[in-house]
Amino acid sequence: MKSDKVNIFWFRRDLRLDDNVGLFHALSSDSDNNYPVIPIFIFDKTILENLDDKNDARVQFIHHTISNMKSELQDLGSDLYTYHGDTTEVMKELLSKYDVQGVYANEDYEPAAIKRDQSISKLLEDNNSSLKLYKDQYIFAKNDVLKNDKTPYTVYTPYKNKWLSLVTPMDIASLNCKKHYDSFHKIPKREIISLEDMGFCEDPENTPLKKSIKRAYITSYHLNRDIPHLDATSKLGIHLRFGTISVRKCAQIGTKLNATWLSEIIWREFFMQILFHFPHAGVKAFKAKYEKINWRNNKSDFKKWCDGETGYAMVDAGMRELNQTGHMHNRVRMVTASFLIKHLLIDWRWGEKYFAKKLLDFDLASNNGNWQWAAGTGCDSAPYFRIFNPYTQQKKFDPDFEYIKKWVPEYGTDEYPEEMVEHKMAYRRAIDVYKSSLAESL
Ligand code: FAD
Repeated sequence: MKSDKVNIFWFRRDLRLDDNVGLFHALSSDSDNNYPVIPIFIFDKTILENLDDKNDARVQFIHHTISNMKSELQDLGSDLYTYHGDTTEVMKELLSKYDVQGVYANEDYEPAAIKRDQSISKLLEDNNSSLKLYKDQYIFAKNDVLKNDKTPYTVYTPYKNKWLSLVTPMDIASLNCKKHYDSFHKIPKREIISLEDMGFCEDPENTPLKKSIKRAYITSYHLNRDIPHLDATSKLGIHLRFGTISVRKCAQIGTKLNATWLSEIIWREFFMQILFHFPHAGVKAFKAKYEKINWRNNKSDFKKWCDGETGYAMVDAGMRELNQTGHMHNRVRMVTASFLIKHLLIDWRWGEKYFAKKLLDFDLASNNGNWQWAAGTGCDSAPYFRIFNPYTQQKKFDPDFEYIKKWVPEYGTDEYPEEMVEHKMAYRRAIDVYKSSLAESL
């Protein structure tokens, strides 16, 4: 026998109990559909099985966050039920146990997520229920920001200008979910599924990143953001990725405190709308002719890059920061990406994949968009012949070697390796290969 009529709220990339658009609608739904809400989270087996490292700080972060949300809901007499499995199977189980009137969630714009949601929506409709999706992850998504001819933007600056001309205080206002907390279903408490039971390990040292909005950093962001040793950026990437902070809150802060910082939030929106409108970019060069680059793809070169053993101190410092912390400063992300693609002539997708494995703030659209930008294959990239010079970058952004010394302590001693490739030769080789590959593809 099924129990009473309920609504489900399905947490995904929106792991917070307040200022959450889908949750707000689930809790405050109109009188036709005013049923108690059971919150759920699914540890998706398909995604987890693809992670090689079972000591993954991102999975630990999610687990930690869900545990905290669960306690908060239990204090309200409700709970957050967790599942480990295939999403379709979990939904079927829920449909068999409860009389599910609707499943509420927030939109996810990645190609695989869109496909998943289409199939869940069909399953629910076949069972007289429905999937109700809301925009929460971005201020603007899908077709919210289009050119006057109704086509998507592919160049950032005009996109940003249109974004800024469209945004109103309503778009960035926070939603008060708390006043509707009475709508959470009073349900028996259950234990959270453990990391061990899902094949992952706990690592207290790895459980990262309390959310703290460092207002002082944001106020002076435009002055210091390019200096890697200063640690002068917000480190909110992982929180935006998993929704432990609301993007509306970030947009409010950016609007109030710093236009440059707001423009970074808009870059995030730009890359997502690129992936949404041009899903081929997730796997192929945005510009088709760049599929033909004659990469060298040397595996031992790639390993040196991954390990931070290239002999280029700025590159090595960045890769070691990434390997040790799951973060890399944005300026150095650009330097390391450019070095892999241009100096070593390794396919940008190898680097993209490595970053995806290591970055705590990994996000498909932002990672892909930035890698394509660095490769010159993307929508609004620097031209391919503009190649980052790692020496100049060091002189400009780490003149006293403070960042380098932090991550490469043996720099300047005999233990530090020679440059694995000579800069001028690599520079000329990259230009030649790009030029001839592009000529062939015409
Ligand atoms: P801040 O500098 O404080 O910026 C605030 C927020 O704005 C960031 O958290 C992020 O959400 C957004 N943002 C900032 N810069 C960018 C940008 N260039 N593109 C898109 N969004 C941006 N960012 C990711 O969130 N996930 C990724 O997987 C990712 N991969 C990258 C790969 C390469 C090769 C490069 C060059 C950049 C990549 N970035 C990625 C962008 C950027 O480096 C990070 O967002 C930033 O370093 C995160 O640090 P922070 O949270 O302190 O950001």
